[in-house]
Amino acid sequence: MQNSNSTKTQVGIIGAGPAGLLLARILQLNGIESVILERRSRAYVLDRVRAGVLEQGSVDTLIQYGAGERLLRESLPHESFQLRWDGRSHEVPVVDADGRRLTTYGQAKIVEDLILLREADGLPIVFEAEVKHIEGLHDQPSIIYVQNENGVKKTLHCDYVAGCDGFLGASRAHIPDADKKSFLKEYPFAWFGILAEAPPKDEIRGFAHSRRGMAVASARSSTVSRHYLQVDPDFDMGTMTDEQIWDELDRRFDDGSGIKMNRGPIIEKSVARLRGFVCEAVQYGKLFLAGDACHIVPPSGAKGLNLAVGDVRVLAETLQRLIKKNDDSLVGRYTELLLRRIWPTVHWSCSMSEALHMFPGQTEFETRMQYNMLNSWANTATGQAYFRNAMLGLPFEI
Ligand SMILES: Cc1cc2nc3c(=O)[nH]c(=O)nc-3n(C[C@H](O)[C@H](O)[C@H](O)COP(=O)(O)OP(=O)(O)OC[C@H]3O[C@@H](n4cnc5c(N)ncnc54)[C@H](O)[C@@H]3O)c2cc1C
Repeated sequence: MQNSNSTKTQVGIIGAGPAGLLLARILQLNGIESVILERRSRAYVLDRVRAGVLEQGSVDTLIQYGAGERLLRESLPHESFQLRWDGRSHEVPVVDADGRRLTTYGQAKIVEDLILLREADGLPIVFEAEVKHIEGLHDQPSIIYVQNENGVKKTLHCDYVAGCDGFLGASRAHIPDADKKSFLKEYPFAWFGILAEAPPKDEIRGFAHSRRGMAVASARSSTVSRHYLQVDPDFDMGTMTDEQIWDELDRRFDDGSGIKMNRGPIIEKSVARLRGFVCEAVQYGKLFLAGDACHIVPPSGAKGLNLAVGDVRVLAETLQRLIKKNDDSLVGRYTELLLRRIWPTVHWSCSMSEALHMFPGQTEFETRMQYNMLNSWANTATGQAYFRNAMLGLPFEI
């Protein structure tokens, strides 16, 4: 069954985001074949700027599977996290008794590291291959896709399908209950993100609650900054000059000290709506969803990528047992194992969003309630412990 329009593998992976690429890597190191089908071009995937804050568990996973060499060299560890409100900044420690901490390392670099490793091993990633349909999910799955270069329909036959194709992917729609078991919360604002060739300033980082709207100052490396401004959902990026963006960041981070952001050329801009989404139907027949295909967390908790890593660990173990040991003991538990990490993480990300943003028509009472929440996380022993544990993330239980 092997010609140019029809190929076969053990696991067909849809999507070359962090979830699909990491899954392929873990499977490879456990002697399981896979093919990754990715709708976008290689250059597009390598250039996509997104998350950047890694939990210790994500760092450990990347190192464990041989994708940690550059990460160990270039990442920036975090001892603490800064929360700023009412014009004052507060430092919240985020290292726990076991030395677990947060690490800054851009998602684009993780994706590049995983792609280069796979290519060096001569393993397939089919770029510009858009999956249209999946058949035979209860028997022998076939993934039908179209390659953009010529529009010809091709088929990937496989034993199992991993739907790692993000929120707008094709795989979730193949689960009959997916719509009925999906839950969505849309926030009435968006994040305007910039990537700038400007060294991050240590004194200005973390989250600022401001009456002008929330702001985030973060790093992607010692020379590149990633910052965000809360904006209206229909915000037009063309309405702000680069100088106005920097001025607005300085205003929202103003704590009276006179310290300003380091400015530099802005090399990327994007706007993302804030939403929370969970699809509780994550498995059907031989199809398993992982990552953003089954959940979206508002970025305030920096959890999207980390949650995807947790899903992939469970999926990799499920597939290894199925393929290597003919053991389906995790299939029936797949949904439960994912959901018990997804909902608490979504809850934390939504709590952060609700404490930090200015909502339309927000009253002074509500603002004071937000200050109280932030103060509890920053300045009480129980609040600090809760904040630290939530930021460090849930343990992997498999
Ligand atoms: C604009 C933006 C900014 C973000 N910022 C942050 C942040 O600051 N912090 C944070 O923690 N998280 C952030 N996230 C979330 C984080 O990036 C995601 O949680 C993470 O990318 C999830 O990885 P994934 O592999 O599950 O999905 P994705 O990275 O979305 O990968 C899915 C892949 O599937 C491909 N695909 C989709 N449909 C098809 C199809 N039909 N056929 C073939 N391939 C397909 C896509 O092209 C994509 O490459 C952000 C997300 C977005 C969209």
